[in-house]
Amino acid sequence: MNCPKCKDSMVVLELKDVEIDKCFSCNGVWLDEGELEQLLQGSKLGEEIIYSIIPHKKSKEKPVKCPVCGKKMTKILAGRSESIVLDKCENEHGIWFDGGELEKIIYMADFGVDNEIYGYLRQIFGNKVK
Ligand SMILES: [Zn+2]
Ligand SMILES: [Zn+2]
Repeated sequence: MNCPKCKDSMVVLELKDVEIDKCFSCNGVWLDEGELEQLLQGSKLGEEIIYSIIPHKKSKEKPVKCPVCGKKMTKILAGRSESIVLDKCENEHGIWFDGGELEKIIYMADFGVDNEIYGYLRQIFGNKVK
């Protein structure tokens, strides 16, 4: 699959049952529909983040096209105290995270430091995930 932002080919990283498509040029990440929920399982605030997601109609950010169907995606907001603008395919293909956005979500989700998933994510994203 090619990165919807810079068109480079993305690398598939497997984390248990979740396939993370990561672009190493712009550091963006694509998660298929339902994978964010899977990824955040076991974190303290993951569910809260999922429930916090709302459409963001007034965003001035340039739309990103879905890497699966090519349709312009919808802007959504995720998070409570700090909201992050993400792009979601209306055809339910998945969610696009610009470089650094998934790291922020993972940090907000609050995994314990000894959590296994958190350990993997740190390996993938390095020290950007605190
Ligand atoms: Zn890219
Ligand atoms: Zn799509």
